[in-house]
Amino acid sequence: MSTDYDVIVIGGGPGGSTTASYLARAGMSVAVLESELFPREHVGESLVPATTPVLLEIGVMDEIDKAGFPRKYGAAWTSAESRNVPHNGFTGLHHGFKAAEITFVERDQPEVDRDYTYHVDRGKFDLILLKHAESCGATVFSGARVLDVDFDDPDAVRVSTRFGPRQVDFTAKLVVDASGRQTLLGRKLKLKTSDPVFNQYAIHTWFEGLDRGSVAVDPERQDFIFVHFLPIKDTWVWQIPITDTVTSIGVVTRKDRFAEANVDREGFFWEYVSSRPELEAALKKAKRLRPFKAEGDYSYVMKEICGDRFVLVGDAARFVDPIFSTGVSIALNSARIASKDIIAAHAAGGDFSKGSFAEFERKMRRAVKNWYEFISVYYRLNVLYTAFVQDPRYRIGVLKLLQGDVYDDAEPTTLNEMKAIVTAVENDPTHLWHPYLGTLRAPLTAPVG
Ligand SMILES: Cc1cc2nc3c(=O)[nH]c(=O)nc-3n(C[C@H](O)[C@H](O)[C@H](O)COP(=O)(O)OP(=O)(O)OC[C@H]3O[C@@H](n4cnc5c(N)ncnc54)[C@H](O)[C@@H]3O)c2cc1C
Repeated sequence: MSTDYDVIVIGGGPGGSTTASYLARAGMSVAVLESELFPREHVGESLVPATTPVLLEIGVMDEIDKAGFPRKYGAAWTSAESRNVPHNGFTGLHHGFKAAEITFVERDQPEVDRDYTYHVDRGKFDLILLKHAESCGATVFSGARVLDVDFDDPDAVRVSTRFGPRQVDFTAKLVVDASGRQTLLGRKLKLKTSDPVFNQYAIHTWFEGLDRGSVAVDPERQDFIFVHFLPIKDTWVWQIPITDTVTSIGVVTRKDRFAEANVDREGFFWEYVSSRPELEAALKKAKRLRPFKAEGDYSYVMKEICGDRFVLVGDAARFVDPIFSTGVSIALNSARIASKDIIAAHAAGGDFSKGSFAEFERKMRRAVKNWYEFISVYYRLNVLYTAFVQDPRYRIGVLKLLQGDVYDDAEPTTLNEMKAIVTAVENDPTHLWHPYLGTLRAPLTAPVG
């Protein structure tokens, strides 16, 4: 039976438009159904270099380069930590535990042709990617909300879509769910499980005229992403340049804290930021450009990330805490890896049953497992992370993870060493770092997903 398209992609964010670009470039007929009209605002503005190979491969990098997004050469972390944390055998802690920074130039990354990536206004970035998918040959429907996906017919997946007051059904041989944290198929097929530990919550906005150097250790590097740790356990603030003068700021903490505080978003934001007076003072001098927005409902696992006639990419497949700016990179790389299997299955006659996506499943599970465990180590023992970043023995291994370079099959030796140290600290109440353990006790070995 013929279908309207070979593949329907649900959602036109980075995961969906990248998948559509790959498939259309391979000659497949693809439709993207996106519920919003772009440009639309979206959280997740700081990229990691693992996005570069994908942007180059689908041929959109020139457009991204021309868009004028601020270049991101590295990342920095600051802390209010004034206590004298013991160095515990680690070296290179020239700022102690108060600050650390890293630059991408320090490690060559396969397939990456530059020593920077970008901070992006997601309204503009996502529009470039979606238009690019269209220019590659995908059909893009905007303002098209997918209501349901029906797999009953063995010859055609039926996708019910609302366009304003009208409902239209499209058919395809395969559906790619790239609906982000809406997790359309994950919810429908009951694949979604909340993460057992992480239940983070973010409140964020944009500021005009923030003096980014005011809390930077090295003012030369004020256009890095900054993660400012607050002296409240499991809590941090992102500082991401959006333009020369506009900066995105977000507070991330545990969701239960917000519920307990019983204040509105604005009150909560300022109360938390005031725990770092120098940051608060700088923000008070700047002008807020947008209402405070909240993001909850994150960190979940899917029991399956592919099945007969469906594949999940990006946030629709999995979401882990954004502490290391990983989301867009995972969306792009999952699109890349999934597309490879989809194109091969199409070329081999169109068998889109689960077994055709085995390589995708294997690679993604492994990559996201490494991310999850890295984040878990970070939340379990924050000071260890700062020590690892600065110690020359481990710095490059940590940088590999921070670059998002997790899709090869290499053993994550640095991560394994971190896990061993965290376990030792946890098992020894007399350990000098025992008092610095965090309260989010995510397992050191990632749950299924
Ligand atoms: C607090 C926070 C901070 C973050 N910070 C970063 C960061 O600094 N760097 C980073 O890389 N990532 C970050 N992320 C993660 C990042 O936002 C996501 O990983 C990324 O946007 C995933 O891309 P995606 O294409 O999978 O989903 P999305 O970008 O969410 O795109 C999904 C699209 O699907 C559409 N859609 C949804 N439902 C339907 C439907 N039923 N029908 C049709 N269309 C639909 C939506 O409108 C949307 O356009 C952060 C996330 C959070 C929550």
